[in-house]
Amino acid sequence: MANLEYFQYAYMSDNYGVLLHCPQSGATASIDCGDAQATTDALNQKGWALTHIFATHHHADHVAGLAQLKAQHGCEVIGPTGINGVDNLVADGSRFTFAGTEVQTLHTPGHTKDMINYYLPAEKTVFTGDTLFSLGCGRLFEGDAPMMWNSLNKLMQLPEDTIVYSSHEYTEANAAFAVTVDPDNDELNARVEKIKQLRSDGEPTVPSTLAEELATNPFLRAGDRKIRQHLNMTDATDAEVFAEIRQRKDNF
Ligand code: ZN
Ligand code: FE
Repeated sequence: MANLEYFQYAYMSDNYGVLLHCPQSGATASIDCGDAQATTDALNQKGWALTHIFATHHHADHVAGLAQLKAQHGCEVIGPTGINGVDNLVADGSRFTFAGTEVQTLHTPGHTKDMINYYLPAEKTVFTGDTLFSLGCGRLFEGDAPMMWNSLNKLMQLPEDTIVYSSHEYTEANAAFAVTVDPDNDELNARVEKIKQLRSDGEPTVPSTLAEELATNPFLRAGDRKIRQHLNMTDATDAEVFAEIRQRKDNF
């Protein structure tokens, strides 16, 4: 049973942070902390006190505010190895409890080698950092395509009704690309219209559900027959098709 409250807020040009709050205990976690002032403003807006930070990866737009928030709140920092200020190191398959709720960590390298995603089974939520976006996936800065494909497969195994919180509002640009590799996907085309409407209303397109991503995100659909035909890659491996889609997006 879901018992946590969620507050998503925008910071920098296109980042999203999320606060997770337990009304019973008062525990509050911040998913990433790229901008200490933005996180502080969000905490003040809700009247919540920061007790935990879950860090996804070492990029500055995700951890630049860590030292200041930790000094101000004395909060416990959970994250991958290599980030200054992490108290509890987590790796693939680690489990810990936040406010009585189990959190499982998935190592999803590809964008960076250290990337950790946080999955809360009882809440049906996953925080995918810069691995899986709405209609997209992270650029391959440190890993390669087979590594990222393997990481995305870990997320694809989660229940389809899992709510996917990703870290950037890139969806409109992702949508413009997605239709070039999967033009005849009716669900994708309908989603693109929904996204355009949300953005013109100034609304976020994050979170989404894993079911939506499985049906419309080309980076999860390397096994799809129509996409393979469209790319002239009917006999390629899924990892090869994913690599081609990722490369086309890089050049889009
Ligand atoms: Zn990043
Ligand atoms: Fe980022």
